[in-house]
Amino acid sequence: MQLKKETSLKNQIKDNLSKYRNFPMVPRVIYGPGSFGQLGEILMPHRKSSDAPIIFLVDDVFEGGELAERVPLMFDDQLIFISADEEPKTEQVDVLVQKLLSDHNELPSGIVGIGGGTLLDLAKAVAIMMTNNGPASDYQGWDLVKKPALYHVGIPTISGTGAEVSRTTVLLGPHKKLGINSDYTPFDQVVLDPDLTLGVPADQWFYTGMDCYIHCVESLNGTFLNAFSQSYGEKALDLCKEVFLEDLPDDESREKLMMASWHGGMSIAYSQVGVAHAMSYGLSYVLGTKHGIGNCLVFQHLDEFYPEGVKLFRQMQEKHNIHLPEGICASLSDEQMDTMVNVALGLEPLWQNALGPEWRQIMTPSRLKALYEKI
Ligand code: NAD
Ligand code: ZN
Repeated sequence: MQLKKETSLKNQIKDNLSKYRNFPMVPRVIYGPGSFGQLGEILMPHRKSSDAPIIFLVDDVFEGGELAERVPLMFDDQLIFISADEEPKTEQVDVLVQKLLSDHNELPSGIVGIGGGTLLDLAKAVAIMMTNNGPASDYQGWDLVKKPALYHVGIPTISGTGAEVSRTTVLLGPHKKLGINSDYTPFDQVVLDPDLTLGVPADQWFYTGMDCYIHCVESLNGTFLNAFSQSYGEKALDLCKEVFLEDLPDDESREKLMMASWHGGMSIAYSQVGVAHAMSYGLSYVLGTKHGIGNCLVFQHLDEFYPEGVKLFRQMQEKHNIHLPEGICASLSDEQMDTMVNVALGLEPLWQNALGPEWRQIMTPSRLKALYEKI
């Protein structure tokens, strides 16, 4: 009798284990205009010794500017400026990790990323690879990371990707563009200071902001939708509508888009993105198209999947006078087009979320190719 009970309890636990995912979240966040000024005091308790520096990876758009001067450097701390012109690569992560290991006698106390999704993802990946044996490409996928990462802090300077809250760091590897999705990936601390987004150029503001908008549309219209994702997705969508369709004062707009990004990221934690992201990954892999603009290029042609979402997108685009380039896929070779289609179709969970379990019957390679040809 007792044995039977125990077995049934064990089975119940096993069933539930595979049924629901148990996700980590960012445990600490500071929010507010000017909160970047508190970074020094936030980092202090995490400094292990004067020989264990904090490494700041900073978008090189800030080189020589005021923000770089406000970085609270102490002892052997290192500030490395990195260009966000190209999205992060596994090789770049490996080189950075080798450099940091040879530059310092002790393992750093922490890694701080300051910038957009590119720098945030780099900081996450470097923090993971400082404690796990390389190369980084070995860890692209789900739950492949063995050891906890170094303490890592994310400080966004442009809003939209949700990389500040997410459980992944998207990297371009030798064989694929895929994230390191793991329980060790999320930041230990995030600093949300809307003032840091002050200098973002208008086009880029729109592209990265639309990443958030598209996260909401894809999550809210996906088959994986649940109350958890919906609650965050709806809030983020409302904020995006305010920011991109109303005439908010600049400071309010910055604050709201920063929070929209956070909620949009939370929304996809418990669901998935969809058609636009799958196709945008293909574009990025073959043509190096950046995430924000790539999503916009694709999304404008997705009326059949997201009619309401695309209609609003066009209104936003018009209001902000955004002209997207055309003919992006016009001069692709057959081989490049095939690769693009294969990369996109390889992202199974995204298609499942967007179109349901029978998605292969709906999104055939030829239909996908026809969509790409519109771009
Ligand atoms: P980005 O980091 O590539 O930056 C875009 C441009 O904006 C760059 O030229 C950068 O220098 C500039 N910039 C950033 N902040 C600025 C500021 N305050 N003032 C002036 N210029 C500024 O852009 P992004 O759209 O934030 O990030 C895209 C990356 O994020 C992609 O690599 C994508 O794969 C990744 N991503 C990751 C996740 C995730 O969950 N990890 C989610 C979505 C996207
Ligand atoms: Zn995205």
